[in-house]
Amino acid sequence: MKIERIELRHIVLELPQPFITSFGTTTERHLIILKVFSDIGVCFAESSPREEPDYSYETIQTVLHVLEDFIAPIILNREIRTIEELHSLLKKIRGHHMAKSGVETAFYHLLSAREGKSLAQYLGGTRTAINVGISLGIPSRVGGKSAHEELLGKVGSALEKQYKRIKIKIKPGWDLEPVRIIRERFGEIPLMVDANSAYSLQDADIFKEMDQYNLLMIEQPLAEDDIYEHSLLQKRIRTPICLDESIESVTDARLAVEIGACQIINIKLCRVGGIYPSIQIHDLCQERGIPVWSGGVFESGIGKADSTALCTLPNFKLPADIAPSDRYFIRDIVSTSLVLEDGQIKVPTAPGVGIDVDERVLEKVTVLPLKILK
Ligand code: MG
Repeated sequence: MKIERIELRHIVLELPQPFITSFGTTTERHLIILKVFSDIGVCFAESSPREEPDYSYETIQTVLHVLEDFIAPIILNREIRTIEELHSLLKKIRGHHMAKSGVETAFYHLLSAREGKSLAQYLGGTRTAINVGISLGIPSRVGGKSAHEELLGKVGSALEKQYKRIKIKIKPGWDLEPVRIIRERFGEIPLMVDANSAYSLQDADIFKEMDQYNLLMIEQPLAEDDIYEHSLLQKRIRTPICLDESIESVTDARLAVEIGACQIINIKLCRVGGIYPSIQIHDLCQERGIPVWSGGVFESGIGKADSTALCTLPNFKLPADIAPSDRYFIRDIVSTSLVLEDGQIKVPTAPGVGIDVDERVLEKVTVLPLKILK
């Protein structure tokens, strides 16, 4: 296959309400959308960095720079036969996984469409629907009764919508209390917390205290480069630790599993450089009896469809953070949205990524200038 031209768009999607985590507040989502033209077809794909280097070091500007100045010159108008070949070509660019995953997922979309297979089928996935959970942000003003009511209201409505698991974001000062009040009101629902690296090993007592609440897992309590410290924390607590930010590659996953730094891994394909490395991490974890699941980073419907396809693989055993577009955006760029039914998302069946983009909406949300690489 030969990539002949790539159109890069910086888009901005509005959130229905701000989403707060331990590293900041998101009110609108900036993303990079790629339209990829090849000798076997055209497709859309996505790179999903944040504007600021907080979740990862990549930003909208670094992704544009790396795609334009380094990735495009390597792949444009070159015969590339397989995904493995693509990855070996991109290896000379260190890191920058979000930039790479934009073109890598485009390759998968084109190759699966050429074979007339849905992306899930192409990956060998067997599920027709995947279980999903919900991720609830931190209330804007923590510490008061109104924050408690806001949280409990959101948990209640998520349970009504039959999400299979509730995840709440935590930060110092908003950790044990929200867990306690949720357990008090809703009993033994499937519940977990995500700290987004906001703590250090000195805070181990907080997590020890969380053991009494039977959480499914504690996601990324310590810093992303604290894999060793996570192994020390895991020895001191019963609740499984799940690593997210710490796992950028199959090598990181192997290290974390070998030293007992986690019992679960959250795979986000944009964080690890695409679908292929995600499958490698999935396979390694499967061999070692470590279940995985897919988180989300407020992708557009395209990125969500990629994650949905990935979640059809057998070791994705825990509910994913994937929800219909209207939960995340006032208007997404896709014309066919993923549908939530009984806490499940149906896996797209059309060839390729199986999701159509509404190009009129895409035009409207594009921040000019458009970059055309050929
Ligand atoms: Mg996380």
